[in-house]
Amino acid sequence: MAHHCCETMTYHAGRQCDQHDDPFECPDALVHFAAKYQEYGLIIHDGGASIIGIEFCPWCGRRLPESQRDRWFAELERRGIDPWVDEVPAEFEDGRWLAL
Ligand SMILES: [Zn+2]
Ligand SMILES: [Zn+2]
Repeated sequence: MAHHCCETMTYHAGRQCDQHDDPFECPDALVHFAAKYQEYGLIIHDGGASIIGIEFCPWCGRRLPESQRDRWFAELERRGIDPWVDEVPAEFEDGRWLAL
């Protein structure tokens, strides 16, 4: 399980609803954690998949880890993979690539 800044964030970021597979469809889902980018965002329930990125935890106030989005693309490029065209390796679909 991913490690977050505090218990409340761990609860919200790792929350699984038994009624909604898609957190964007769950009215109780507040936070979306994109493990592959290590990015945190607040879910905007407008019927789509909108998110407002956050840099600080709304509960404990700590600064959240820096986004790894640029590194994600750089690492794939280094492997000769174009994420828009090629299949992205499974370890790049979540946080595992960070430990490679
Ligand atoms: Zn926190
Ligand atoms: Zn739900």
